[in-house]
Amino acid sequence: MSEQRHDVVVIGSGPGGYVCAIRCAQLGLKTACVERYPTRGGTCLNVGCIPSKALLESSERYHEAAHGLAAHGVVVEGGAGALSVDLAAMMKRKDEIVSQLTGGVASLFKAHDIESVTGHGRIVNEDGALSVVVEGEDGSERRLEADAVVIATGSKPAALRGVDFDGDRIVDSTGALSFPEVPEHLVLIGAGVIGLELGSVWGRLGAKVTVLEYLDRILPGVDGEVAKQAKRILGKQGMDFVLGARVTGASVDGDRVTVSWTDAKDEAHEIVADRVLCAVGRRPYTQGLGCEEAGVGLDDRGRVEVDDAFQTSVPGVFAIGDVIRGPMLAHKAEDEGIAVAEILAGGHGHVNYDAIPSIVYTHPEIAGVGETEEALKEAGVPYNRGRFRYGANGRALALGERDGLVKILAHAETDRILGCHIIGARAGDLIAEAGLAIELGASAEDVARSCHAHPTLAEVLREAALDVAGRAIHRA
Ligand code: FAD
Ligand code: NAD
Repeated sequence: MSEQRHDVVVIGSGPGGYVCAIRCAQLGLKTACVERYPTRGGTCLNVGCIPSKALLESSERYHEAAHGLAAHGVVVEGGAGALSVDLAAMMKRKDEIVSQLTGGVASLFKAHDIESVTGHGRIVNEDGALSVVVEGEDGSERRLEADAVVIATGSKPAALRGVDFDGDRIVDSTGALSFPEVPEHLVLIGAGVIGLELGSVWGRLGAKVTVLEYLDRILPGVDGEVAKQAKRILGKQGMDFVLGARVTGASVDGDRVTVSWTDAKDEAHEIVADRVLCAVGRRPYTQGLGCEEAGVGLDDRGRVEVDDAFQTSVPGVFAIGDVIRGPMLAHKAEDEGIAVAEILAGGHGHVNYDAIPSIVYTHPEIAGVGETEEALKEAGVPYNRGRFRYGANGRALALGERDGLVKILAHAETDRILGCHIIGARAGDLIAEAGLAIELGASAEDVARSCHAHPTLAEVLREAALDVAGRAIHRA
């Protein structure tokens, strides 16, 4: 087995791993990054954030052309019936964007002199001497000795008992990114982020979409008021929600799938569809990583346990991203990757978990950062609330996007912004301002006193900040 010494070996090339590797190299550390798949970029670039957003964009264009243009006085001869979907072209566009970005990561590795190793990595700890053994597809092994190892192995879709993925009729998110045709009836198990995003894609392209959700609400973790609005708006778009539905099984017969579920009164029901997407969360991925043998501790949910400096129970072994605690988000993984690199180079690395935005890319978008109202109530934190609707904003009306709301939550005594929640067009871009405000410890008054360009949707955020003190200008 050939051996080679590195300052840092990163296992996994997702947004956590590849960003960590680049920052390590920038800081002068001799770095290798091990990835079991032939392309770089992990879940995010290959089968997550990027392909899903490509399809969301394409399907939204189609939907807009079919249903949104007439209000602008733009006439499609023959109406919506004259339009058709070229699914192969849509998929090709998605695949090209993915290739461009995964190839981009490979180029960045070259430019930073990062050794990119393909194969399955396993941590070996011999009395504190660390190495990563990489097994190639052909079974050959290579050992990379390292002063530090960073685990960035990400996550995989969680399975549901009785619902076996067959990659065709019953799929996870990866399968739902490349259905061969638009489903007639798509059943989503789980009204979480993946379900609502991919349900939106196929619903816009013409599928009937039914969502079976175990809880009595959609989008757990999202501010309750915003989630309620989301359910109303997505319902109007044709998504059929069944709440309090505990899915117990799914069986395939030819091209039909029968999904069984019980309601809150424990009564049994069935629903028949041609495709089923099961999206009930993701689980950390540590299979074959050698954690147990190396002494790397996992918590009761199978996540790699880390301290505040991202170090595991083995000195010199660190972990970041979906495989550790915290939200499973690409930008959270990236920030942790940078923090670990800076710690390894002898500096300070830190991530402010109070200022990590999360966005659901439905239409309209749903975005939040900081505390929800429910969390503040539960913690007994006194707060003031400012709200403002898109309907009173000139740009929103010009865009034809009057359905929306910005809500800002500020501490009742200090006025410091504790949370911001938005449902409405371009919420994902607007939330950046609130994230920065939280990061800088800004008060609602700070945001309210900042000049915001007119006419922009950002003015809705400013009005919400003004409303915290009851002085929104454009409120009758
Ligand atoms: P991953 O991206 O999962 O990368 C881990 C990598 O490690 C993988 O490439 C894997 O092959 C490799 N690996 C694992 N074990 C080994 C081993 N032993 N040896 C070698 N390699 C190994 N997040 C957002 O912030 N915004 C979004 O819009 C968004 N959309 C999403 C849409 C979908 C459909 C999905 C599924 C996820 C989405 N996410 C989104 C979540 C996001 O993809 C993850 O949070 C992010 O990819 C986590 O990054 P990571 O680096 O921790 O792990
Ligand atoms: P999720 O945790 O967001 O939602 C899963 C849903 O399934 C929950 O509402 C849960 O109550 C429900 N559920 C669980 N068991 C059920 C059952 N037996 N029957 C019916 N419903 C059931 O998980 P997800 O949608 O799979 O997404 C996984 C993660 O991927 C997300 O948490 C997020 O971190 C990440 N992601 C992020 C984005 C984004 O940032 N835009 C997009 C996609 C995925």
